[in-house]
Amino acid sequence: MTQSFMYPYFLGPKAENHALFEELLIGFLRDHSYWRRNFHPMDAPTIPTDARYQREFLKFLSLLERELFALSADLKAAVPLFSPRYMGHMASDLLMPGLLAHMITTLYNPNNVSEEVAPITVQKELKVIDQLATMVGYKTGSDGAWGYLTSGGTVANYAAMRSCLTVKYFPLACQQALLNLQRKHGFTLEIDLKDRSPWQLTNMSIKDVIKLRESVFDRMRQQGDATIFDRFVKNLDAERLETLGLVDFFKKHQALGPPVLLAPCTAHYSWSKAMRLFGLGTSNIVGIEVDAHLRLSAESAHELADQLLKKQTNILMTVGVLGTTEYGTVDPIDKLVALREVFASKGVSIPVHVDAAWGGYLTTMFRNPDGSFAPRSQVRKSFRHFPSEAVYRSFSALSEVDSVTIDPHKLGYIPYPAGAYLCRHSDVIDFIIQKIAYVFDVAQRPSKKQLLRRLGQYIIEGSKPGSAAAAVYVTHKTLPLDRTGFGRIISETVHACEYLSDRLSEWKQEVSDLVQVSVPFEPDTNLVCLCINPNGNRSVARANRFLRSVYDAMCPKPGQPIQVMEFFGSYTSVERGTLGNVQAQRILATLDLDPDTFREIPNDPETESDHLFVLRHTLMNPWLIKTDEHGLNTLDHYLVYLKQLVTSLIGKA
Ligand SMILES: *Cc1c(COP(=O)(O)O)cnc(C)c1O
Repeated sequence: MTQSFMYPYFLGPKAENHALFEELLIGFLRDHSYWRRNFHPMDAPTIPTDARYQREFLKFLSLLERELFALSADLKAAVPLFSPRYMGHMASDLLMPGLLAHMITTLYNPNNVSEEVAPITVQKELKVIDQLATMVGYKTGSDGAWGYLTSGGTVANYAAMRSCLTVKYFPLACQQALLNLQRKHGFTLEIDLKDRSPWQLTNMSIKDVIKLRESVFDRMRQQGDATIFDRFVKNLDAERLETLGLVDFFKKHQALGPPVLLAPCTAHYSWSKAMRLFGLGTSNIVGIEVDAHLRLSAESAHELADQLLKKQTNILMTVGVLGTTEYGTVDPIDKLVALREVFASKGVSIPVHVDAAWGGYLTTMFRNPDGSFAPRSQVRKSFRHFPSEAVYRSFSALSEVDSVTIDPHKLGYIPYPAGAYLCRHSDVIDFIIQKIAYVFDVAQRPSKKQLLRRLGQYIIEGSKPGSAAAAVYVTHKTLPLDRTGFGRIISETVHACEYLSDRLSEWKQEVSDLVQVSVPFEPDTNLVCLCINPNGNRSVARANRFLRSVYDAMCPKPGQPIQVMEFFGSYTSVERGTLGNVQAQRILATLDLDPDTFREIPNDPETESDHLFVLRHTLMNPWLIKTDEHGLNTLDHYLVYLKQLVTSLIGKA
């Protein structure tokens, strides 16, 4: 396997591309200074040319230099995220195009909250959304997808929740506004929502709500005049959830309880953050069970939705994870789409949001340059196992979901902060920026293009770096989001995963007189989890303590120089409650552990027996399987190290 195609993409573990990087950076740094000088070149310099020779100036300079030396020294204890020896969290070396674009753009400091301060990078952000939309298979253009960049996956998930809330409760507000109009002004619109129940109105599909809104306003323009239109808009605004707030809205609509969020128990903790932040409450998260692969169980989702329907509890949305943070597993997105359709026919709306913060960019391995989705046989050609039938079907359903979270600052190899929220229905923007969109005279209505440029009106954050948009844009331009471009880099992470998985089955034999080794569930993408239990031990708590000591050696400690670290890992745990009995027994059997020692002990916060401690390997560094002159790669060296580590720790135990 040759990785030579990637040579120009990264700065490199030894900063091999330093000269190139420096040349480009300095070139564009100078370019920036000349740009300044050529803005009204006749203006005299503000900082006098002799200023730098003055005492005060020099004093400050020495202070600045001292502090920069100190900072640079401190940063030598930073975690070497660039190194293939780093397999801990979701970070790696960065793609040079994005890093350079980010650094260069920062000199201009554009703020993408407003086109007025960032005319260039706002345009780039809109283009980036189109690029990502095309990658997941959404349409672009005025009836296509809409979205925006965020600080990361967390805020993109908030964005999805905000859109669903806004759309879900719109028809109810519309009904109330029309009733008010009738009562107060004797005006009846031909569209009558009077006879629809709150349950029906809050269970319309996103598409139907968009249609309803359009036809209500169209009719209003046809049947009423500017005055009645204006009254309606004011009434509508007054009745909306966004105006009343949760407390008064649900007080008014007592037939409705608060909505719940359906999400697998493996979902990222940003979902519980979101429920806290929105005031919906974490108790309103309904956890979907997972199967033997730690993928969401569609059967469980179905059962839960049925139970909620019986109780007439509204479902805000269901979340599927495309690449879980802890295990890299891929939920069956196709089955969530099918679930949405089944329940739509029962009059229940369940919008599907896919949290692809981690796995979003993996889609590039399936996307042909002409935009088509590659058949499984074609994708399989470059791999030994990937993609499994289930994983393939999941990715192929991405184009049908209602919204997606993708993090360019994870598998996009772009500097922080860069997350993205994509929504399949661009008209959802009209619900978010409500006021400006409602004018009686259609001619005065801003076009979709104009609306899109008013980022401040619809993004969740306020000020935000235009350099993020520039970084993502240049990256996507130099490495197109398909099989021939970005897909080749991402393929390396899956190759690394297949390599490590295969090597681990040999390694298991090599260390079998010391420990039992288990990969508790087969990897779906590029994360590999590992459990290790010393021979003779049957207690889960002891196995966990042992593996924790293994992990400790791969975890940087304050005060310890980073240079002595061999490898960096991370850990996760699988809760007893997450695994069904069958799965728990299956995994424990491979480790020779006693199922009776795997249990929750109430009121014991220190307990080590209610979960399985797992070594987690995030295989995103592009050079993990690059061989050295001995024909060995980083993962080979890692397994040698891991064997030594395990041997020495067993000696101590
Ligand atoms: C990382 C991650 C998030 C959170 O993204 P941030 O960029 O850290 O805010 C959300 N969901 C999943 C699945 C993730 O992997």
